[in-house]
Amino acid sequence: MAMKCMNCHMVCAADDPACIFCGYKISDTSAALKKEGMSKKSKTTAVLFMVVGSVIFNTMIGPAYFHNSGERFLAAGAVGAVCAVMGMIVGNLLSSD
Ligand SMILES: [Zn+2]
Repeated sequence: MAMKCMNCHMVCAADDPACIFCGYKISDTSAALKKEGMSKKSKTTAVLFMVVGSVIFNTMIGPAYFHNSGERFLAAGAVGAVCAVMGMIVGNLLSSD
């Protein structure tokens, strides 16, 4: 796989640790940039999923199954946590190209 150097834009091999023309580190920087983008996006989707999941549970599912408000509150928290993990996974999938 070939990729461009971030510094001089020469085409280099992806497994080269540094650009053979200018010595700029290739794999380190591209991996760091990708990781940063992924975590930011997955965090956003995690929050989004958590909010949407909790709202759906509280308005549609919760009242039908949990008549005790304390139980419903705990269940909503568990549903929100599960949705957050799902959102994190979806966010990672969406951001990987
Ligand atoms: Zn270079």
